[in-house]
Amino acid sequence: MNGLIMDVPLTITSILEHAEKVNGDGEIVSITADNPRHRYTYKEAFARARRLAATMSEWGLSQGDRIATLAWNDYRHLETYYASACSGYVCHTINPRLFKEQLVYIINHAEDRYVFVDPDFLPLAETLAPECPGVEGWVVLASQEHMPQSTLDNLLCFEALVADGTSEFGFPSLDENAACALCYTSGTTGNPKGVLYSHRSTMLHAYATMMPDALGIARRDVVLPIVPMFHVNAWGNPYSCPMAGAKLVLPGNKMGDGETLAKLINEEQVTLSAGVPTVWLGLLAYLKSTGTSIDSLERIIVGGAACPLSIMEDMDAYGVDTRVGWGMTEMSPLGTANNAGASRDKYSAEEFARVRLKAGRAIFGVEMKIVDDDNNELPWDGVAFGSLKVRGPWICSNYYKLEGSDAHAEDGWFETGDVATIDADGFMAITDRTKDVIKSGGEWISSIEVENVATDHPKVAEAAVIGHYHPKWSERPLLIVVKGANGDDLDAQEMLAWFDGKIARWWTPEAVEFVDELPHTATGKVQKVKLREMFKDFEFPA
Ligand code: AMP
Repeated sequence: MNGLIMDVPLTITSILEHAEKVNGDGEIVSITADNPRHRYTYKEAFARARRLAATMSEWGLSQGDRIATLAWNDYRHLETYYASACSGYVCHTINPRLFKEQLVYIINHAEDRYVFVDPDFLPLAETLAPECPGVEGWVVLASQEHMPQSTLDNLLCFEALVADGTSEFGFPSLDENAACALCYTSGTTGNPKGVLYSHRSTMLHAYATMMPDALGIARRDVVLPIVPMFHVNAWGNPYSCPMAGAKLVLPGNKMGDGETLAKLINEEQVTLSAGVPTVWLGLLAYLKSTGTSIDSLERIIVGGAACPLSIMEDMDAYGVDTRVGWGMTEMSPLGTANNAGASRDKYSAEEFARVRLKAGRAIFGVEMKIVDDDNNELPWDGVAFGSLKVRGPWICSNYYKLEGSDAHAEDGWFETGDVATIDADGFMAITDRTKDVIKSGGEWISSIEVENVATDHPKVAEAAVIGHYHPKWSERPLLIVVKGANGDDLDAQEMLAWFDGKIARWWTPEAVEFVDELPHTATGKVQKVKLREMFKDFEFPA
């Protein structure tokens, strides 16, 4: 017997409608290229999203068509999120930090029909356009008076699109399982893979992140997402904040600027913020060097990479509670949150320092398990470590246009590529990674791509790249090289110069070490775990 409860679809349109009616006065503050502090309300934002959608409805798009963005966190990007998703299109947020070949690949793979571009990224768009013939229009996120000069002929002005549409535009009814957003993540090998979110998964994830022991977002909060809207939808903040009615502060292209972040926090009275460790280091350096305080800030969520204890202790001194979160693009992203701070009295100082560093407990909706090489489940004793698998209603069941990925080999579970322990209280801690990637400042570097360039050098016999601790970027690539027969005179300078123009500058290894041989497995693969162990005491030159 079924329950007698209405079957109302969980769609992003319902967030927009709720925010229009109930949280219409909630504020959104943004930094954009043409305005250092744009401010308006949810009601105004969504009226403009309707106008934009009305104009887009004339473009001959079909439901499910992809609308891409190359944009910072700001109000026009937010409007594009909602105008696309509520119209039944898929908002494909592109990470502008990827290099050109990857960008071309994902725009073509996603078959993006329009790309919405921040003026900062217009020169990039101009280089991409000739190789992306499927894109019918490039929309610049600017007003008519600030439209930049461009070589693109199919250029459109965002504000003109908004001006052309009506705010009375009615969105279509949508199936909650329809796709609403797409985000590519760089994998271990090959091309980036697309994670296709649904309205339902996005709604459920947004609900879950609002829970007190997750991000705990309430109407009284002022939320500053320093996580990009182009990287897993800024951890769901663009959905959860309008749901809650929380004020949203969007830092535009100033995400890495400690001074601007401190100003935003103080002037907008930010209570909650989320970001990768690198962002907090930048903010803390500014606060310390200027004696500035951040009194309104109550808590921060640190994720995307392991959070050093020093950030937590420095934040303690500023009266800010640091909560670690762990997740992935494939998980919308939130999987765990560390709420140990809520029961601080339970722990001695040393225990607390240890426990708070862990990734935390699964938030309700996410199931976790750790398994050994034969897929046997391991105990939750805080000691046994194994491959971490997850499942839940906001975890991807496969990648976009890709049949059966290895990560989905076990039916109903997703293999994260992280290695973890889980203790008896349910606290998960990441101990290593099986996926061969490096995370620098919150963004992926494919070690294989870097190794391929290194081994192309005529004086190199073999090369391996590992992610190694870096005080500012969490991890940086360390290149380990075995010289070839004619490579006696190969030095670090020559080796590193070899990468110029061959890969993105920030992918270039931070340092190079020469060895006589690399450790290999029986099947001839480089043993990265052993290499990481060999170089654990290495320090990058300052
Ligand atoms: P992404 O898909 O880019 O969000 O990256 C997800 C990956 O980042 C995870 O699989 C982890 O390897 C890493 N990661 C995310 N959060 C944490 C954390 N709190 N501690 C350690 N690694 C993390």
